[in-house]
Amino acid sequence: MRAPRKPNAVVIGAGFGGLAAAIRLAARGYQVTMVDRLDKAGGRAYVYEQDGFRFDAGPTIITVPHLLEELWALCGKRMDDHVQLKSLDPFYRIRFDDGETFTYYSDPAAMRAEVARLAPQDLPGLERFMQHADAACRTGFEGLSTTPFTRVSDMLRALPGLARLGAWNSVAGKVASCFSDERLRSVFSFHPLLVGGNPFNVTAIYTLINALERRWGVHFAMGGTGALVQGLVDLVEGQGSTLRLQTEVKRILLDEGRACGVELADGEMLPADVVVSNADAAWTYRMMLPEHARQHWTNRRVERANHSMGLFVWYFGTKKRFNDVGHHTMVLGPRYQPLLTDIFKRKVLAKDFSLYLHRPTATDPSLAPEGCDTFYALSPVPHLGGNVDWAVEAEPYRQRIQRRLEDTLLPGLGAEVVTSHYIHPGDFRNRYLSWQGAGFGMEPSMLQSAWFRPHNVSEDVPGLYLVGAGTHPGAGVPGVLCSAKILDEVVPHAHTFIL
Ligand SMILES: Cc1cc2nc3c(=O)[nH]c(=O)nc-3n(C[C@H](O)[C@H](O)[C@H](O)COP(=O)(O)OP(=O)(O)OC[C@H]3O[C@@H](n4cnc5c(N)ncnc54)[C@H](O)[C@@H]3O)c2cc1C
Repeated sequence: MRAPRKPNAVVIGAGFGGLAAAIRLAARGYQVTMVDRLDKAGGRAYVYEQDGFRFDAGPTIITVPHLLEELWALCGKRMDDHVQLKSLDPFYRIRFDDGETFTYYSDPAAMRAEVARLAPQDLPGLERFMQHADAACRTGFEGLSTTPFTRVSDMLRALPGLARLGAWNSVAGKVASCFSDERLRSVFSFHPLLVGGNPFNVTAIYTLINALERRWGVHFAMGGTGALVQGLVDLVEGQGSTLRLQTEVKRILLDEGRACGVELADGEMLPADVVVSNADAAWTYRMMLPEHARQHWTNRRVERANHSMGLFVWYFGTKKRFNDVGHHTMVLGPRYQPLLTDIFKRKVLAKDFSLYLHRPTATDPSLAPEGCDTFYALSPVPHLGGNVDWAVEAEPYRQRIQRRLEDTLLPGLGAEVVTSHYIHPGDFRNRYLSWQGAGFGMEPSMLQSAWFRPHNVSEDVPGLYLVGAGTHPGAGVPGVLCSAKILDEVVPHAHTFIL
């Protein structure tokens, strides 16, 4: 007699969300096949290797490390034995347009001293802000990030807690009520940009990012974020799951309306008892499922949703080390709210920009040849819903970023660059199949969060589950790891299948 087979799960996409989903499903008895159209796992955490330099393409700030440690524990291992996370302090330095800086420390006393140096009148506001952020973290992160918002009653239950926190206010609104100094207003409100939200539009609950950084630290994976991705791939393969790269899913197969597998771009069919999509949520509905199978995520609804901003990222290596530059620096431009309006609402490519400069070699010199530095400069830009022709604009835009960096932090940069590569929203669309080339899926505004966001359990197709930035709770490595954790609650245990 043949042994009963394990139920099959197909996971579309090997981003952090997909990798975590694969590990959790295999730990719960599924035979998992994970497919990704790229040649390496990691999704937005892809690693470019060029001329001896190693560039993490996406996430660099690792927070809430216990969400990663849980994945190793599920496989009977310890993360520390495989990947070393180094905690950073200060977390970042913020450089204002006039050259003044603010150093963002984990230590509350050091943080108070920085606020006192720039605007002593805002010290009481700092305390109020921290208390609000801590409360938002307890309610929004600890309370709701692993709650599956599948029924409207889940949302109704959450509403009183959200109302107490003034969730209808924006992050920028909350921050403005605590700080009078414009510089401090940008320092304490920029965090939603890390998950694709306009601080002037996303709910004040997102102040939780500030609190979770202070509570669990800001870390860097030695060897780069790619070391974490490789560690997760090793876990997946160690569980006996299959990872198929350079394999694109064309559509999700349905049997009487229920997901029953996927069809690959080359026509091969992979049958499955459960399908998990870590692909962009909008793309999953709009492009991988026929419209007649969708009552909720109709074409119109997907197209009318607000998507997060796009990103222009310039990766470059220098033949000298810029030792004065820290690991994470925000280089702010002359305008804050008007620039965000250009990006999110007007969708025009502004002449000025605010940049995030990543210099991982400040912490781990092994990411560049000896005596050299690895960098990336990230600039939020409109997604492809605007009118920017990146085929024309990209190189001049890169040059403007270079000039800005030469004028601020990296004098003489042009003569030092020995390797260079950039990506723009068109690449996000073509590589990651991201709707409108958005950097982070749908914008995490109040009306596109929790129950309003594409659910982890598909509203339209039984047997289909969603993980990753486009579903609840949203973008960022902690968010997508939480989305995979929700699967433990909503995907039936393997032993419930009769096969
Ligand atoms: C430049 C940048 C910097 C960031 N910095 C940080 C940071 O410092 N800290 C932080 O926490 N977060 C950061 N983020 C956000 C974070 O990286 C993302 O939210 C998160 O990694 C997204 O993970 P995901 O699981 O949604 O999958 P993704 O990384 O989006 O991966 C999805 C995968 O699905 C694959 N796929 C899509 N369609 C198909 C298909 N049809 N067939 C097969 N495969 C398919 C894609 O190839 C891709 O590999 C950053 C993001 C970017 C872009």
